[in-house]
Amino acid sequence: MPDFTVKSIVHDYKVQFVDDSKQILAREMKEGDVVIIDNKVKTLYPDLLNGISQNNVVIGIDADERQKSYQGLIPIIEKLIAGGFRKNHRLIGIGGGITQDVTAFTSSIMYRGVYWLFFPTTLLAQGDSCIGSKTSINFGEFKNQVGGFYPPNEVYIDLNFLDTLSSAELQSGLGEMSHYFVVVGEGDFNRFKKEYPLAKQDKNILNGLIERSLEIKKSYIEIDEFDRNKRQIFNYGHSFGHAIESLTNYEVPHGIAVSCGMDMANFVSVKLGYLQCEIRQEIRELLEQIWDGYVISNLSIEKFANALSKDKKNVGKELRLILCKGYGKLFKTGIQLDRQFIGLLEEYFDKELVH
Ligand code: NAD
Repeated sequence: MPDFTVKSIVHDYKVQFVDDSKQILAREMKEGDVVIIDNKVKTLYPDLLNGISQNNVVIGIDADERQKSYQGLIPIIEKLIAGGFRKNHRLIGIGGGITQDVTAFTSSIMYRGVYWLFFPTTLLAQGDSCIGSKTSINFGEFKNQVGGFYPPNEVYIDLNFLDTLSSAELQSGLGEMSHYFVVVGEGDFNRFKKEYPLAKQDKNILNGLIERSLEIKKSYIEIDEFDRNKRQIFNYGHSFGHAIESLTNYEVPHGIAVSCGMDMANFVSVKLGYLQCEIRQEIRELLEQIWDGYVISNLSIEKFANALSKDKKNVGKELRLILCKGYGKLFKTGIQLDRQFIGLLEEYFDKELVH
């Protein structure tokens, strides 16, 4: 995909496909800029930061959901202030979605906002989160409760980083990306389903899916950046997925939890008469490959319902869920968290949950 620019109400930003991050970093880093890097990436790519000045502060973080919290940000902000970071300096995030959220959120609050650049190193971050402006951190045991919209100034996508990702992380990335392909329509879904088994081995196929995923996302964020209207359908699978992440203490990776969440949304859609069983089954055949290797059991219905009730899209006591009427036919609806809905959850947990 050629490089492209995302139009944003905050400021437009360029996304570039590159294959030498080390040189770009050496070129981009200015005096006072600070790198926030996933410790694992720093270990796996020991030369990556060789070209930058010794004077640039480098902050290593563990990609752990606990890092995405007020408590996790405190040592980072302390280091920034102690190191003489100023409003005209920039943060450079290098890592996956957790590093992105930490860097973006910190950038948005330091001195009322500083510029930040991003080098996504996971499939999930390259094929999804790197565009779209969202910056969220977790609060207590609940996911993405606090945040805003604060786009990067530049994004550099280097597919070479994907070479060191585990198969599980590739599955998680593909899980997250899969929801775009259901949202956009049957042709794209069929392509994704056909290419999924090859994508983990074939860089060209993977590249094509990343490009299409970003293209679909871009088309929505440019018309509804602040998630007030059309973009909300991309929360498909996410309300249930976030609840699964919270209840499993984040042992289930985000993209896997989203794929389970999509099937739960489809199950509820069938039960409420919106979706044909056959379509749910066609989608589930793909999702089963994505969550392959994971077992999710013994989830407390009560805690699950409580986590669902904390979803940020809810209005009053009513859940706001994205349900499915078919490929390309996702919609938002209000659902009461009542005995009938709890009954549906119980049925799903008894018979359908990943096992
Ligand atoms: P992550 O950042 O935790 O990375 C997953 C794992 O991969 C970690 O163990 C990390 O150390 C490792 N890793 C990173 N790069 C690597 C590489 N090149 N080689 C080997 N290992 C590498 O998780 P993620 O899956 O990228 O992102 C999930 C997070 O992103 C969640 O917190 C989710 O809420 C958030 N998210 C944010 C947005 C947004 O728009 N802001 C969108 C989607 C998801």
